[in-house]
Amino acid sequence: MYTDQRKDNQPLELSRDIPLAPFTSFKIGGPARFLTKARTLEQLKQALSFAKAEGIPFLIVGGGSNLLVSDRGFDGIAIRLQMKGIKVQGNRVEAQAGVDLMALVEHAAHWGLAGIERLAGIPGLFGGAVRGNAGAYGSCIGDVIERVHALRADTLELVTLARDACQFQYRNSRFKKDHGLVVVAASLLLEPGAPQEILSRAEATVRKRQARQLQCDLSAGSFFMNPVVRDPELIQRFETEQGTHCRDGRIPAGWLIDRARLRSLSVGAAMVSPRHANYLINTGNASAQEMVRLAELVKDEVRASLGVQLEEEVSCVGFIPAGPLPS
Ligand SMILES: Cc1cc2nc3c(=O)[nH]c(=O)nc-3n(C[C@H](O)[C@H](O)[C@H](O)COP(=O)(O)OP(=O)(O)OC[C@H]3O[C@@H](n4cnc5c(N)ncnc54)[C@H](O)[C@@H]3O)c2cc1C
Repeated sequence: MYTDQRKDNQPLELSRDIPLAPFTSFKIGGPARFLTKARTLEQLKQALSFAKAEGIPFLIVGGGSNLLVSDRGFDGIAIRLQMKGIKVQGNRVEAQAGVDLMALVEHAAHWGLAGIERLAGIPGLFGGAVRGNAGAYGSCIGDVIERVHALRADTLELVTLARDACQFQYRNSRFKKDHGLVVVAASLLLEPGAPQEILSRAEATVRKRQARQLQCDLSAGSFFMNPVVRDPELIQRFETEQGTHCRDGRIPAGWLIDRARLRSLSVGAAMVSPRHANYLINTGNASAQEMVRLAELVKDEVRASLGVQLEEEVSCVGFIPAGPLPS
């Protein structure tokens, strides 16, 4: 199906108690009970079967650029997706989930296919981008998806979903809502164009991102999603101050965090970036606990001062979900 030449029948290689921090852009997180790589669809199936047989949860790790792993780690099997097949046919590019997003942008440009160059510079892998409908500068991956191939973790059934069935929304998709669906590949429908012009646009996008000087910090990009705000006064304040209209009723979380005067706020070595208030950064040896406490402080302050509830964009893994308060 893809230009992935590796054999499908290699046995599953498992490592035990491997720290996940090096596999995340935050460089935070304790060990996974098991860690494996899935270089092929068959290896992914084996890893998921293993999780089922052992009665343990699984965690898909792409580029780790949107992931906060707890200090206690992940008591299950972490599966690093490394299926890197990619093929082109006319205006259609089909890629497996383990393809680096930037490499995909460059391949498409090289083939004279436009439509994803404004995603240039977003870290992570194609599968992670599809799952979170990654986007920047007004475009997102869901805009150009034709269909997505996903594996149902419980039955190992491969399903193909047309774009409309993927429920792409702002930083959201069906795959984000349903943890049991693992994105294994997807096809994109792109527009023909001159390779050099497409490449120039991609390079300009990367330069624009680099000028913000955010790529070198240890972060997971925007920590919170831009919330839908219903307060007309706040919307007017934002629009007047920024000289722009808010898109789809959403106000940038960074602007709200700034208004709450939280820039540079820290908990231990976790800090609200002085450069971009929606980036929470690890300034050295931050623990996940410090990062989560900082995030909670930010949420509390923004809610108290502006009446807006922020919600995490980052996937938080290995934390005990909050239960009801004891009565
Ligand atoms: C400096 C910086 C800048 C960033 N800028 C942007 C930006 O402009 N726009 C934007 O949208 N994002 C941005 N991000 C966030 C991040 O790059 C994206 O969310 C990216 O698409 C995540 O992909 P990943 O492969 O790293 O996912 P990971 O971090 O590995 O995983 C994130 C979540 O998705 C799940 N997952 C990963 N792959 C799959 C799969 N194949 N199937 C099912 N679930 C999966 C994981 O289990 C996890 O829950 C930025 C991050 C950084 C560090």
